[in-house]
Amino acid sequence: MQYISTRGGSEPLSYCEALLEGLATDGGLAVPETLPTIDADLLERWRALTYPQLATEVLALFATDIPRTDLARMTQAAYAGFPEAVVPLRRLDDELTLVGLSEGPTLAFKDMAMQFLGEVVEYALEQRDAVMNVLGATSGDTGSAAEHALRGKERIAVFMLSPQGRMSPFQRAQMFSIDDPRVHNIAIGGVFDDCQNLVKELAGDLGFKRAHFLGAVNSINLARITAQVVYYVWAWLRATDAGVVEVSVTVPSGNFGNILSGFYARQMGVPLRRLVLAANENNVLDEFFRSGIYRPRSAAETVATSSPSMDISKASNLERFIFELVGRDPERVVGAWRDLDAQGYIDFSAERARFADEFGIVSGTSTHADRVGTIRAVYERSGDVIDPHTADGVRVARDYVEPGVRMLVLETAKPEKFAETIHEAIGVDLAYTPELREMLDAPQHVVDLPDDAEALRAFIAQRALH
Ligand SMILES: *Cc1c(COP(=O)(O)O)cnc(C)c1O
Repeated sequence: MQYISTRGGSEPLSYCEALLEGLATDGGLAVPETLPTIDADLLERWRALTYPQLATEVLALFATDIPRTDLARMTQAAYAGFPEAVVPLRRLDDELTLVGLSEGPTLAFKDMAMQFLGEVVEYALEQRDAVMNVLGATSGDTGSAAEHALRGKERIAVFMLSPQGRMSPFQRAQMFSIDDPRVHNIAIGGVFDDCQNLVKELAGDLGFKRAHFLGAVNSINLARITAQVVYYVWAWLRATDAGVVEVSVTVPSGNFGNILSGFYARQMGVPLRRLVLAANENNVLDEFFRSGIYRPRSAAETVATSSPSMDISKASNLERFIFELVGRDPERVVGAWRDLDAQGYIDFSAERARFADEFGIVSGTSTHADRVGTIRAVYERSGDVIDPHTADGVRVARDYVEPGVRMLVLETAKPEKFAETIHEAIGVDLAYTPELREMLDAPQHVVDLPDDAEALRAFIAQRALH
């Protein structure tokens, strides 16, 4: 399997090459040259597999340059710290079932892909006798998932920028409690956008980037997208184990990474009826799937909500969906992004009906009041406590429930991460497990730097792996 760019301008790459590369050299995103297929027989043969075994099978369709025994060892290692089922399903009520994607070390779904990414990046670097210095910016969740996945890896160092004093105490503890000589937490005197601009400046300085082997593990990384396909297959298998015939999935969405993997699973042949995209007040994607107009917002138009991991102004992975929408024609993708640069939006309103009819994608938006009300209603009905992102999903899912179709809602985080909103909704202070208590009380490791590219360059040059 080779990987090509959505904009058609770079040489085909192997899986390992594409995952180390990040952005394609022409500014596009790496996509499989053809999507692999999964038919009904294959699905039935996979029914008895454990989660790591299933991950090996699904990932083998994409990572044809990695021997299966190596892949099996990596999937085993990636999910070893999870509970036995890895992704447990739990029935909420007659309509909805939650898919537990938040059983990993940082209590959010990003662990599902990051834990595998940590293994496969280390593997690809070993093969090449290379090292990577991961440079990233985080407002909280992605950074901690990356650090927990990359800690202890010999060939990888992490330089993670976060806005000084702007993360929750829980998020700070999750990142800063990591005590690893190759994990560098850097608190920048500025806001998240300042952190991101510093990353862009250094990654755009090709001399510096090459000299210090800078890399990224952000949400457009191909390995993350492929690792997420696995749990859509798993969720379909587990739902249909229980005698259910038809299955739809609702996905709390931000950068369009998670639901893109569901879209790939469906295109590959997993019989998912609908993919329901749930947005919060930052509803760029709901707007797109309703109107066909994609209009990214400015930072000033992006509001801080109670489901912060979905607070996006643009959805980086949408380009991979557009690529399929335009029949995999890179010229049309280039044209669409030229329109975006020139006029600030892309108009696919003529194709709007295809979103649901052909691709099964529908969408909706929740408000803060919806989420709080949903957390309360679920708690009162079943005693289950769900986090505000999952509540976005549950709220929007209700609008798309159909008779005879099981609606799965992806649980993208555990409620313990969002204690304030939970308290507001149900008046309960969640008890922390002993492990969480220990993490919250552990000494913190973080360096303060000014919002200054020169200071950051000097810091990295001194500590990067070479
Ligand atoms: C990252 C994240 C999302 C959004 O996922 P995308 O892949 O960006 O669409 C939703 N919920 C939680 C808890 C997250 O951490």
